[in-house]
Amino acid sequence: MCGIVGYVGTRPAARILVEGLARLEYRGYDSAGLAVAYRKALRTTKAVGRVDDLRAALGDEPSPGRVGIAHTRWATHGEPSERNAHPHTDASGRIAVVHNGIVENAEELRAKLIADGVVFASDTDTEVLPHLIAKAAGDDSRTLEEAVREALRVVEGTYGLVVLDARRPDELVVARNGSPIVLGLGDGEMFVASDVAALVRHTRQVVFLADGELATITATGYEGSRLGPPTTVDVDDDDYDLDGHPDFLSKEIHEQPAALRRVLAGRLDTRFATARLDGLRLDPRELRGIRRVTFLGCGSALYAGQMGAMFMEELARVPADAEQASEFRYRNPLVDPDTLYVAVSQSGETIDTLAAVEELQRKGGRVVGCVNVIGSAIARQCGAGMFLHAGPEVSVASTKAFSSMTTSFALLALLLGRVRDLSSAHGTRLVDGLRRLPDAVEHALAGEAEVAAVARRYAEARSMFYLGRVRGSAVAREGAQKLKEISYVHAEAYAAAELKHGPLALVDATMPCVVVVPDDELIAKNVSTIEQIKARGGPVIAVTNADLPDGLADAVLRVPRLEPELDPILLGIPLQMLAYHCAAALGRDIDKPRNLAKSVTVE
Ligand code: GLU
Repeated sequence: MCGIVGYVGTRPAARILVEGLARLEYRGYDSAGLAVAYRKALRTTKAVGRVDDLRAALGDEPSPGRVGIAHTRWATHGEPSERNAHPHTDASGRIAVVHNGIVENAEELRAKLIADGVVFASDTDTEVLPHLIAKAAGDDSRTLEEAVREALRVVEGTYGLVVLDARRPDELVVARNGSPIVLGLGDGEMFVASDVAALVRHTRQVVFLADGELATITATGYEGSRLGPPTTVDVDDDDYDLDGHPDFLSKEIHEQPAALRRVLAGRLDTRFATARLDGLRLDPRELRGIRRVTFLGCGSALYAGQMGAMFMEELARVPADAEQASEFRYRNPLVDPDTLYVAVSQSGETIDTLAAVEELQRKGGRVVGCVNVIGSAIARQCGAGMFLHAGPEVSVASTKAFSSMTTSFALLALLLGRVRDLSSAHGTRLVDGLRRLPDAVEHALAGEAEVAAVARRYAEARSMFYLGRVRGSAVAREGAQKLKEISYVHAEAYAAAELKHGPLALVDATMPCVVVVPDDELIAKNVSTIEQIKARGGPVIAVTNADLPDGLADAVLRVPRLEPELDPILLGIPLQMLAYHCAAALGRDIDKPRNLAKSVTVE
């Protein structure tokens, strides 16, 4: 979840590295640093805080060296401070390492190295790596890659790393185990990064490293035992521009109609009133053989899966559930051959989800991916699935990827439904509803000014409840998640009927309750929930596509009517804007909420 950048070529490395880091800053940003080799010595610069601070620390005359490595850190071991910022070096200052991941046996390795007389300069787990590599490099009879391989033999844990040796300023060595590393092929220069975002300004030709791979890269090429051919990534540097928006979250919220049009493109089959998801690689017989669908994800991807499970049961009448990938991987799951497992991750690099996929495959489970980033680890590991085509999502809080995921799951449910008992007439209604979905989202977004006014009224709340039943339940969970992550206002999602079984005790005039009210057969129940809150003096914000009685709620956030089954996708949109404007009213750093990082690639 930190950002890694490396460069070897003919231009001075420092500025290229800093610009690359700026592109990755959203991944983790408590401190940053870089090392550049020049005349057989390393010059290291570090700063606590943002990449801008590093830029300032570099000054006007950075090293002219043409090879270097850089890092933005999301601390796991040791506080965010200059001494703990990467790159870390060995005692002689010859070997520098940037690392994403966790060395799990760092304590033990550290103790051994200390016994050998090594003096440590930081509190990180990472620092054992340069010491081990320097030891293995010894008298230089080995290549750097051999030394890194040798050092890694004793290392347990996860890593994406780039190693620079002052004595070998023509090359970098990269290694990957669990954390992403991608090479970018330039003309007479080579780039390395933990995310293609850092590369696309320079090249679209990339090579993704697989787990267990090591490679040596030089200005003119790369060499590794099992590296595949380069692939072309379909992302522009412009995709990372703000485009007139104040921040990426605003941009991404407003990109949703276009993103959903891409999710749906070519996937609606009017003739047979179904969906086409060829990437799943499942024929109708196999689709019929599926007896259960289990979604696996973390955070918003988990809530998207919960919505997916509901679509699945409602439209396809297939039992379905969603599980935290982080729990699944460790609880020795019962893997059922007739279950379709769907691994959900925007980045395709979420370490817990990836591990769940591997555990499933090891036990013979059938798993498909639902990811945004083509070429990512989960996409490759699954080999089949649904790409979101949402375009890069930069803001830490997910919006367009979330709605693209839930829309994909509606497609999947339609497909599974149509090989079972969902009639063609019902299918036609849903195909039509899905086709109208992007416009309906556009409509919902047009209500932003009203949502902002409501947000300003309630942003100072200490805590909020988010309530929903059945079609509103995953909507409420994701809504609460959005509020928590970007505004730091505590929020808790509850099944509406559960409120009176305990949490109602917390409701008073200081506890706003956001109630999701789809215009469906449960509307009377949701109205009762609102009445019960009001009777205790709780302010109510209703999110609805129904015509609620005047004065029932203190504030109403409206979305258009579509098809009732698809309501959850639409009802979530005002809640994104509510969270956004609460965060804005509180002056939060919207794209970079404290303590969080975009793709969670460490445990
Ligand atoms: N475990 C390392 C540290 O705490 C790397 C963390 C990261 O991935 O940023 O420094």
